[in-house]
Amino acid sequence: MIIAIDGPAGSGKSTIAQAVAERLALTYVDTGAMYRAVTLLALEKGVSLEDDDALGSLALEMEIDLSESAQGLPQVRVAGRDVTKAIREPLVSQKVSYVAAHRKVREALKLRQRGMAETGDVVLEGRDIGTVVCPRADLKVFLTASVGVRAVRRKRQLEEQGICISAKTLEREILLRDTHDSTRSVAPLRKPRDAIEIDTTELSIEEVVDRIAAEAVGVGSDGGGSC
Ligand code: C5P
Repeated sequence: MIIAIDGPAGSGKSTIAQAVAERLALTYVDTGAMYRAVTLLALEKGVSLEDDDALGSLALEMEIDLSESAQGLPQVRVAGRDVTKAIREPLVSQKVSYVAAHRKVREALKLRQRGMAETGDVVLEGRDIGTVVCPRADLKVFLTASVGVRAVRRKRQLEEQGICISAKTLEREILLRDTHDSTRSVAPLRKPRDAIEIDTTELSIEEVVDRIAAEAVGVGSDGGGSC
């Protein structure tokens, strides 16, 4: 089964997608981590964030590995280096939506994400999974939440990684990222027509996971579990 979970920054996608994957014994794929990894590499190598060709090559060629730490937490490695924390640093968060707007970056990552979904047993989480990467996903979910709640959640998540930023600053960053992500010309963030929309503002993680797991029951893999 392929489950596509999309939504704006801080809507609970990562936590919920991980929990759904665990509950249904599916592989979790954080596509945002891939855009963040390209951004980190571009910043480190001094690649212009305007250079579609150079950014596209980075996206195509980077050696990225999305796996789990010994503690069962998602881990991101680029060319063997653990970048799990580095890709969440404020500078990467500020720049990632500029990088993600490039056509060549999106084309390269789309192909890689489809490759990761080839097993047919995955939960992919991002902005364009149900609309562009896996339009034939067996189940599409679109998560939303109020911006205040999203900023507080992101703050807690970052604190767990030792990064301290005020909720107000995060709220501004989230709104800016939402604007970039939903107004870009290539694969903008939008709710797939056939997605179930869940407003997570007042819901616990368990409630959302229960709802998605219930929707997954009885959903046949009509696409044979393909994107
Ligand atoms: O999910 P996360 O907040 O880590 O994503 C970081 C950024 O990566 C998003 O703000 C967006 O610009 C980009 N992204 C995207 N398409 C995806 C996943 C993430 O454009 N499928």
